[in-house]
Amino acid sequence: MRDNGDVKSTPTDFMTRASELRRRAATCAPGGVHSNVRLTGPDDIIDSAQGARLYGVDGADYIDYLLGQGPALLGHSPGFLTDPICDAVRNGMIVGGQTEQEVRAAELLCAALGWPDMVRFGLSGTEMVQAALRLARAVTGRRLVIRFEGHYHGWLDNVLITDRDGVWEAASAGQLSSHLDDTLVLPWNDADVLADVLERAGERIAAIIMEPIMTNSGVIEPGPAYLERVRRLCSRYGIVLIFDEVISGFRLGLGGAVRRYGVTPDLALYGKAIAGGVPVSALAGREDLMHRIGTGEVNHAGTFNGWAPGMAAVVATLEYLRSHPPYASIAEYGTQLMAGLREIGESVGEPLRVEGLPAVFHVSFGEADVTDYRSLRQLDLDRYASLASALVRHGVWVAQRGIWFISAAHGIAELDATLTRFKTAVKDWLAGRASGRVSDLLGP
Ligand code: PMP
Repeated sequence: MRDNGDVKSTPTDFMTRASELRRRAATCAPGGVHSNVRLTGPDDIIDSAQGARLYGVDGADYIDYLLGQGPALLGHSPGFLTDPICDAVRNGMIVGGQTEQEVRAAELLCAALGWPDMVRFGLSGTEMVQAALRLARAVTGRRLVIRFEGHYHGWLDNVLITDRDGVWEAASAGQLSSHLDDTLVLPWNDADVLADVLERAGERIAAIIMEPIMTNSGVIEPGPAYLERVRRLCSRYGIVLIFDEVISGFRLGLGGAVRRYGVTPDLALYGKAIAGGVPVSALAGREDLMHRIGTGEVNHAGTFNGWAPGMAAVVATLEYLRSHPPYASIAEYGTQLMAGLREIGESVGEPLRVEGLPAVFHVSFGEADVTDYRSLRQLDLDRYASLASALVRHGVWVAQRGIWFISAAHGIAELDATLTRFKTAVKDWLAGRASGRVSDLLGP
């Protein structure tokens, strides 16, 4: 697509390759995808990604606001990252022992975050959640965990939940619901509710885990003094406070939500943007807790932990974030984009709710004073999901759940093109014309 936002004309057999690949995918992978999150994701077949753009196998280009669900904070495959990764690939990817790169990566990570003494690397956010919960139970000798409505902590049996008419239950067939028996699910951003529960059961709670800014359902900041109160309550009852910064880490700034809100947990998890798109995650924490893993008393393992290309990517990403902080330009871009989306909504008589931070925000229809999952549900999220499909067909790659991620690679050309495409998509969608795929919109 050209930067004025027009959709490029291509031959009428456009998307033939994508259709064929989708057909083949459906025969060899359940649902044609390898993560159930993608069952409702945008569904062109992507050939390559560079900077803030994705290119479909049949020539469509998309401005990317999904960024692989967050990791590509610095854009897709920037040179400062690919060179050290390729060097690491050539020098042996996994040695089953320690490397200098992993020492550097751990030191840099502790320094960048500012508060933890130690880190352990893994590959996914999901597994680090498990490590944190196990460690919290080990150090407290308690079983129960408190978590919050609308927060996501991975897909395993003891954390995957869904809201069925106000009751939080196992979300998947085959999931052992008994694994949720030791979990209490509370509304978030309400310190009184938490204080009340802790008054009755505080002594039995091993951990409180939360996204310190809720990004998996809306993008909702903690209310004034909420995190401080949670911190104080955890200290009072000897509960391990775990921040799940898998999305917020490195996206909100080098110090993540901890630095933004000035509240320090006992343990925290990082993933996604930590390595610019390469699978790496980390458990970070104070030495007095983390050392229990080091003695072997608390088990944490993984064949690929500390794999060399991942460690090279962590080092390159953290050094880059320190030497070229992208946060001001990301904030400027996000602020302009949020304003532009709102303006377009107004201009077509369909006010959009665009809320959150410039680096990650949420778009929906409806009005509500949104402070938690319950108030978020008052918005018309399904209507936005329908618009999101139209946006993808017009070359704006977004998730149906309303979240938009901004990268350092988004520039003025992407901003202009996004707003042009967005306006056309909204108008077509309102006119009921936005059915079908990108190919349906392309002339011969
Ligand atoms: N925690 C949060 C807050 C997340 O957003 C995610 C993934 N979206 C996870 C944990 C799980 O991470 P992963 O997909 O890498 O297992």
